[in-house]
Amino acid sequence: MLTLFQQYPGLAKRLPHADLGIFPTPVRRMTNLGKALGAPMLYLKDDGASGDIYGGNKVRKLEFLLGDALAKGKKSVLTFGYAGSNHALATAIYANRLGIKPVSILLKQANARYVGRNLLMGHAHGARMHHFRSEASAILPVLLKMFSLLIRDGRMPAVIPPGGSSPLGVVGYVNAAFELKAQVENGMLPEPKRIFVALGTMGTAVGLLLGLRAAGLSSALVSVRVTDEKFANAKKFMGLFEKTNALLVDADPAFPRVEIAKEEIHIRDDFFGGRYARFTPEGMAAVDRLDTSEGVKLEGTYTGKTMAALIDALISGGEEDSAVLFWNTYNAVDFSDAIQQLDYRRLPRPFHRYFEAPCQPLDT
Ligand SMILES: *Cc1c(COP(=O)(O)O)cnc(C)c1O
Repeated sequence: MLTLFQQYPGLAKRLPHADLGIFPTPVRRMTNLGKALGAPMLYLKDDGASGDIYGGNKVRKLEFLLGDALAKGKKSVLTFGYAGSNHALATAIYANRLGIKPVSILLKQANARYVGRNLLMGHAHGARMHHFRSEASAILPVLLKMFSLLIRDGRMPAVIPPGGSSPLGVVGYVNAAFELKAQVENGMLPEPKRIFVALGTMGTAVGLLLGLRAAGLSSALVSVRVTDEKFANAKKFMGLFEKTNALLVDADPAFPRVEIAKEEIHIRDDFFGGRYARFTPEGMAAVDRLDTSEGVKLEGTYTGKTMAALIDALISGGEEDSAVLFWNTYNAVDFSDAIQQLDYRRLPRPFHRYFEAPCQPLDT
């Protein structure tokens, strides 16, 4: 059972949940990199290993979101993202497993090899994918799509916001912090002084900060922004934090009301590189470094930029004797065999560009 549910049985009774992933996810020490950075207590919490065919941070959110769709008898699920969205892919895979038909509305993005791989994998798991050049061009077609699903299924589809970052989805990361607390208590790692995590639609970071404080851990959370500031900022962070806290208190009054100071929302803006999914030299250097020093596979859109911020903080901070934790949010399961035989020409035409046009220069 989820650690959060063990602590708050009222939540187990009131919140929808489906078992989809593999938890707790592993924790390990990154000895080589830690030594090189003057931080011997450097640890990895590997949410890349959260699933059997596809891991990463979306699985924890989907356990609640798809659990809810299942409880409501939904026949299809509609979600949104950029073309290479890990969230849209994870939603397709796990909805399909539960017998719910996945539909994704995907926006144009900078090209990289992972985009094509994710599109093929989504297709292999039954995702119906629609491509749009901009949010504005998608609104009317999205409404039409919802209407056609209503006609076909006799009910509205479940609608999951980008990144799965609704308050219910965020609860998955509140649980993740309780899971970490249990690992600290079991002696698998010391209580981290700082935790570094990527900040996209913010659900991961918001849930972690809420869960850390509710569980009684005082680790500082450093959120490394990898998307436009209009989607990820301190004000929106606080809003999602409060809504998630309210949801939990409402479901079980034993869950604490958590107050945080503004300064606890620590967002690093300087590793974004100006555009979502545009790889940066620092980010790609961090990807290489993790691969060679620890055999950990990161990528250029989220985790490379986050690791670059961690490396920068450790280098500029001098010797560090307290524990620092990197929270890996990127899928670690190799699914190349599953897509090897697939022909991209079977995808809707607007997606062909991700296979035919060149990738960005840093994607080597
Ligand atoms: C979606 C995603 C994130 C961002 O998580 P949010 O909860 O949207 O902030 C980070 N890393 C990876 C690999 C992701 O796919």
